[in-house]
Amino acid sequence: MPGISKMVSAVESPEAVTAEAVARRLKPQAMLVSREAKSSDTVVRAGSAVVGGGAFTVIAGPCSVENAEQMVCTARFAQKYGASIIRGGAYKPRTSPYSFQGLGEEGLELLAQARRLTGLPVVTEVMDTADVDLVESYADILQVGARNVQNFCLLKRVGQARKPVLLKRGLMTTIKEFLMAAEYILAGGNDQVILCERGIRTFETATRNTLDLSAVCVLKESTHLPVVVDPSHAVGNRRYVKPLARASLAVGADGIMVEMHCSPDNAMCDGDQSLTPADFKELMADINSMSALRSNWLAC
Ligand code: PEP
Ligand code: MN
Repeated sequence: MPGISKMVSAVESPEAVTAEAVARRLKPQAMLVSREAKSSDTVVRAGSAVVGGGAFTVIAGPCSVENAEQMVCTARFAQKYGASIIRGGAYKPRTSPYSFQGLGEEGLELLAQARRLTGLPVVTEVMDTADVDLVESYADILQVGARNVQNFCLLKRVGQARKPVLLKRGLMTTIKEFLMAAEYILAGGNDQVILCERGIRTFETATRNTLDLSAVCVLKESTHLPVVVDPSHAVGNRRYVKPLARASLAVGADGIMVEMHCSPDNAMCDGDQSLTPADFKELMADINSMSALRSNWLAC
């Protein structure tokens, strides 16, 4: 996208016409997320995991934490086949108020148990400013979901958190708006931010959303923050997750986040798009064989 670096490089003009605002308008400051502000890649660290700076990081786990057996079983498969981070939602943003809303704190405890058993860090969504302290006390990475990408109160609050944030692109969020959302978090003092492309809503109905892989190229050029891809929520169908995960690696993403469930047919949420452990094993074999070539592909 021509001019994107310029587009995100300057802080937008403030509305109040103060002397300071006029001075800033005359000499725009680089946005904190921009490569103009920081040319070297940001490396996000959480427990044993690293996201960015050349690594290709795989995050895997169920859509929702359902019970101890499901979480332990899925987490063990994630670890066995090479995931670096375990995912699982304890607070679920659901379209219907009658759908399973997540286990809340009980789910966070099960995630902590999965971390103890596997030694892997965990990422989980926080939906409400009131829950940030609690989620932060359990999780290694806080996820801000697609529906909250422009919840500015939440962005400001996680900007004060001491844990990294995985920020998902919204269903109708432009790349510029996505970067502005990340800017809120950095402006709050938290520079440990991972961007996640998870598909956008288009006219196409054959897939759940449309994966915007070109966004990875644009983002990698515009920002120093690591960029991961979530093919699961993008396509909504497990058959397409593996090829799009491979494509994410090829296009230069810093990693993927995929949903995997030890028994997807019985999942309480997003079973259709969840990989089986066998699918995940195959995907990891593909990723490992492609990784050898990846260094040649890193520049988009
Ligand atoms: C999720 O990752 O669990 C999730 C709800 O995804 P998204 O916010 O991208 O819809
Ligand atoms: Mn899901």
